[in-house]
Amino acid sequence: MKHFKLGITVGIIAICFLTLGIMAPSTASAKITFVTIGTGGVTGVYYPTGGAISKIVNKKSKVYHLKVTVESTGGSVFNVNAIMSGDLDFGIVESSRQYQAWHGQMEWAKKGPQKNLRSICSFHPESVTIVAGDDTGIKTFRDLKGHHVNIGNPGSGQRGEAIELLTQAGIDWKKDIKAEGMKAVESAQMLQDGRIDAFFYTVGHPNGSIKEATAGKRKVHFVPIPDDIIMPLLKKHSYFAKAYIPIKFYPDATNKKDVPTIAVKATFCTSAKEPAWIVYDITKEIFDNLETFKKLHPALNVLTKKNMLTGLTAPIHPGALKYYRESGLIKYIPKSLISK
Ligand code: GLU
Repeated sequence: MKHFKLGITVGIIAICFLTLGIMAPSTASAKITFVTIGTGGVTGVYYPTGGAISKIVNKKSKVYHLKVTVESTGGSVFNVNAIMSGDLDFGIVESSRQYQAWHGQMEWAKKGPQKNLRSICSFHPESVTIVAGDDTGIKTFRDLKGHHVNIGNPGSGQRGEAIELLTQAGIDWKKDIKAEGMKAVESAQMLQDGRIDAFFYTVGHPNGSIKEATAGKRKVHFVPIPDDIIMPLLKKHSYFAKAYIPIKFYPDATNKKDVPTIAVKATFCTSAKEPAWIVYDITKEIFDNLETFKKLHPALNVLTKKNMLTGLTAPIHPGALKYYRESGLIKYIPKSLISK
């Protein structure tokens, strides 16, 4: 009897261990899902913005079983394409590039509309920033003609804006300038070393790259974009807005006043294929912790829940919509962005 009882006890203990053994993997099967956000160069604003998202979400990784990692990339166009191919889960993309990808324009003219692109929200404004050496004689936008200019790498957002602006100014970017296709992260040093005369960068302010470009030995300035180039573009494209580069951020630049230019917005994108729970958790953490999020980079300072719902073209992902419905923010979202 005793033996029998002992047998039962041992049996029960064994079953417990066995169960635990089975349980263990299933507890671990609430395993962490890793998602990656594509950003831009490390000295831009996308990279620290991605870092801010990951910081906020990863604080809750035990709750959500989700870990966000950030990748430095070639920029907006690269990010859209990598989201579409499934190489990236999320990406930060200029509002102009989101619009063009959704409608199958510019880099997507041959591939056609990117119908699986989804938007989540927008972040900071990004202004087209042209930095030129004082010794180059480039004073006005049209003076860029005949000069050696980095318009940006093919995966970047700024390359598109540079081409649109130059074309609007009657400058053929293939013939009338010596166009360089380098990444923004290299521009500051190239300008300081005298290897280029000027560069384009569509970026939020303040940022490390422009600080680096203005703080060197070679004196440099921002090139203003005149109204006769800006206005027709504003009429043509809803994604452009007039803006000024605040000179207070760059005391070493030789401009005296804020510099007129044109701006887009940084937007947060994903694919229709991304699971709704992941998009929901990330959206919720960004919006619920907006005050903390804004402090993680000075360019994010201007964000409000309302202005983060502007500048979008692709339909809003259902995971984000769920959060906007719950939080009442849905009232700020145009019906055209809510897909059935
Ligand atoms: N707007 C740039 C691009 O789309 C990136 C700017 C940044 O990294 O902050 O390529």
